[in-house]
Amino acid sequence: MPAPLHVVWFKRDLRIQDHRPLAQAAKHGPVLPLYVVEPGLWREPDASARQWQFIAQCLDELGRDLQHLGQPLMVRVGTVVEVLEAVRQSHGIDALWSHEETGNGWTFARDKAVAAWARVQGLPWHELRQHGVQRRMVSRNGWANAWDRQMSEPICDPPDALAPVAGLDSQPLPSLAELGLADDGCIEPQAGGRRAGLDLLDSFLAGRGRNYRREMSNPLAGATGCSRLSPHLAWGTVAMREAAQATWSRLRDLKTESEPAAKALRASLISYSGRLHWHCHFIQKLESEPSLEFRELHPALRGLRPDAADPALLQAWATGRTGYPFLDACMRSLTATGWLNFRMRAMVMSFASYNLWLPWRETGLHLARQFTDYEPGIHWSQVQMQSGTTGINAIRIYSVVKQGYDQDPAGVFVRRWVPELADVPDQHLQEPWNFNGGASDYPERIVDMKATTAAAKDKIYGARRDSGFKAASGEILAKHGSRKGRPSAAKPKKKTGQMEMDL
Ligand SMILES: Cc1cc2nc3c(=O)[nH]c(=O)nc-3n(C[C@H](O)[C@H](O)[C@H](O)COP(=O)(O)OP(=O)(O)OC[C@H]3O[C@@H](n4cnc5c(N)ncnc54)[C@H](O)[C@@H]3O)c2cc1C
Repeated sequence: MPAPLHVVWFKRDLRIQDHRPLAQAAKHGPVLPLYVVEPGLWREPDASARQWQFIAQCLDELGRDLQHLGQPLMVRVGTVVEVLEAVRQSHGIDALWSHEETGNGWTFARDKAVAAWARVQGLPWHELRQHGVQRRMVSRNGWANAWDRQMSEPICDPPDALAPVAGLDSQPLPSLAELGLADDGCIEPQAGGRRAGLDLLDSFLAGRGRNYRREMSNPLAGATGCSRLSPHLAWGTVAMREAAQATWSRLRDLKTESEPAAKALRASLISYSGRLHWHCHFIQKLESEPSLEFRELHPALRGLRPDAADPALLQAWATGRTGYPFLDACMRSLTATGWLNFRMRAMVMSFASYNLWLPWRETGLHLARQFTDYEPGIHWSQVQMQSGTTGINAIRIYSVVKQGYDQDPAGVFVRRWVPELADVPDQHLQEPWNFNGGASDYPERIVDMKATTAAAKDKIYGARRDSGFKAASGEILAKHGSRKGRPSAAKPKKKTGQMEMDL
């Protein structure tokens, strides 16, 4: 009888480099690298075709990398417990290894089921930390320093070789139809796989990121000026430690250079390294408060919006037919590419939550499906933040018209995504209702922006005047706020054009 296996369960960590569970498991005995395609997960309302297509490319490459080590990835379709139990019965399992995952409510419940199964079988499940998020965190104090320490640890090499395991075949990756996923119109998808991720990191650090600070708020320039690493960090083809250390190393090199281009890049990379930190800072919120995927973080801000969205408003927003050209261009571009820059994500969410007064859970689910980089911890924290339901962040209601003038003054982005406005002159492009010629197949504005902004402010600030508001905000800040002395809800930050957050 061959020795029992050390099963390495790949989840949001589709790489072999800096993969501690793989490296550790290989020291203990024969390794079975496993990926389970879970139909239940893909039936969840936050899952989408574009995410699966990206992951499928990552799995192809991961499979090849493992094959080079000697033992290919075993892909199975089913529930994780059933798959593990079948392996246990046929080959025996010594231990289960994986990274810790801060996923959605479904994966949280699944992990509990896996833990219960492992307990009953008397098997250890070694869950190792993947990035800066802390399990069972007692206090936020010292979190940022712990992140720095964690990211400074040496990058872990893959094992030299893996002994082949006989008698365990892989199943083919299911098609979209087999997973019940409809094609979702992502006609310009981002490439999956580790090499694509490393290329993005390399080109960004080499010079593509030079104008990052200037371009990040612009949906057009930001598409090349931002790193675009998000889906790779979300699905783990590139480890956060690798991204952080490569950025720090480049920063050290640039310090000695005096060329203006080098100085510009250095300034951008300082800003960028802060964003890498935010990645984990936001995921930590969901890790510490799993309910924030489903209900408002602040008790005084619950129940303000309707339980179900008005279908016509939701549809107009989701399909980019609101009558506000810049907003519509953002939504259509997102559908086609699976990506949107940070500021425009915040703006489309703000419009849905304030101007349309739609329930954030429903609109948040739509955006989750649209994002190839869907990362539940960042996503739901941001969705709540941009909907004013955390109680600890300043209320920011974006004007979709002003953002259009600011970010797309020549109308290039709007013209690309809203062809119905082709005949509208440049000076009227952001406000076509002022143009007498009209645009017959483009909708009228679905809401009055000024009136809905005022109404939303009344409701939100009214709820914030609630007697228990401040005390509850203090508790939330203590649990989730960063410790960097950034502005609190009581001290809203001025409009700077830069992001205000990290709370
Ligand atoms: C409503 C809303 C939902 C969002 N949902 C997601 C999501 O599901 N997945 C996701 O990765 N990001 C999400 N973001 C954060 C941010 O918009 C994206 O990380 C960023 O636009 C990705 O592009 P990039 O990789 O080129 O970013 P860059 O600007 O190049 O930043 C590099 C990395 O830093 C991290 N990062 C950057 N900005 C933020 C931020 N504001 N908060 C947390 N981490 C950040 C990301 O991992 C990103 O890949 C959301 C923002 C909003 C407002």
